[in-house]
Amino acid sequence: MDAIIIGAGMAGLMAAQTLRERGYSIQLIERGRSVGGRLATRRVGAGGLADHGAQFFTVRSDTLQTWVDRWLAQDLVYVWGEGWSDGSVKRSAGDGHARYACHGGMNALAKHLARNLDISINRLVTGIQPDDSGWTLEDSAGSVYQSKGLVMTPPVPEALALLTKNGIDLREDDHNALRRIRFGPCLCGIHEIEGGLELPAPGAVQNFQANVYWVADNQAKGISQTAVVTSHANAKFSRQNWGAPEADIVRELESAVQPYLKEGARIIRTQLKKWRYSVPLTTHADDCLLADGLPPLVFAGDAFGGRGRVEGAFLSGIAAGNVLADALA
Ligand SMILES: Cc1cc2nc3c(=O)[nH]c(=O)nc-3n(C[C@H](O)[C@H](O)[C@H](O)COP(=O)(O)OP(=O)(O)OC[C@H]3O[C@@H](n4cnc5c(N)ncnc54)[C@H](O)[C@@H]3O)c2cc1C
Repeated sequence: MDAIIIGAGMAGLMAAQTLRERGYSIQLIERGRSVGGRLATRRVGAGGLADHGAQFFTVRSDTLQTWVDRWLAQDLVYVWGEGWSDGSVKRSAGDGHARYACHGGMNALAKHLARNLDISINRLVTGIQPDDSGWTLEDSAGSVYQSKGLVMTPPVPEALALLTKNGIDLREDDHNALRRIRFGPCLCGIHEIEGGLELPAPGAVQNFQANVYWVADNQAKGISQTAVVTSHANAKFSRQNWGAPEADIVRELESAVQPYLKEGARIIRTQLKKWRYSVPLTTHADDCLLADGLPPLVFAGDAFGGRGRVEGAFLSGIAAGNVLADALA
């Protein structure tokens, strides 16, 4: 095997696409039960769907725009809106920039990118060792993998912890650059609603002053047949309340949804999802990092390139694929 990629989120999938395009053999290993990572969609009751990680994505680069134009033509993605109400006015403030969502939920985009790729699902990488011919990895089921090169796309603090656990020392410069990367947590509510909702069109409120800064109606978004709301608390509130009793967190999340329930409607159930690493708060300036003094090892993900978010992960994955291909050549 030429390359192993840890993580089948946006960055890992794009690294895989790039390496395959350049003629290298690749294997992805993903700990989740599905591909996508933070491109996460959950089934809720009969016919309900909720995006509970990334809600939408924006496009600033020509590279992503080229792919998005293709996805639009394939009817995979659509423009959900051009901005959101902050809750203080009924009309949403459009800024002319498209916010894209995916038919069937954001996870469907990852599944689309994953088709034709060789992916070990539900496998947590626990062992990593460098050797003369590259890398030897072991997963939680005891499977062993060997490759010449390695791409690591878990959120950087998790990638570093995995290396430390395996006694792998990075060169000081690389270690310091990666240690500077910080992520914010996010407490997320997935609320099943009986009766209707009245969220301002196109179905979401975004108010960065509020503890719960995001409330979105997955039915109005067009991915759910039933009324299911996603709520996100900001990083400060999420950090302060990370260990609070679940009932207290749920109460705060539900209180942000209540104003948007139609008369007589009610929240019948709330699932709590805790994202320890939701979005990067500090990033690395380059699109990826090739480690010095080890067999080819590239770090990638949304924390690289200074952009964050889905587009940052997309571009970082492509960069990592190219950097590793060059290193293997
Ligand atoms: C609540 C929330 C809201 C967000 N909202 C938006 C938004 O509206 N717009 C936007 O653009 N972005 C948003 N984002 C950010 C966006 O989701 C991310 O930037 C992007 O999806 C990151 O992709 P990635 O490939 O870098 O990382 P990830 O998607 O995290 O992929 C890393 C993968 O590595 C896997 N992994 C980790 N460790 C191991 C291991 N040891 N073995 C095997 N697999 C492993 C993980 O399971 C995961 O699948 C949001 C994120 C969250 C959590």
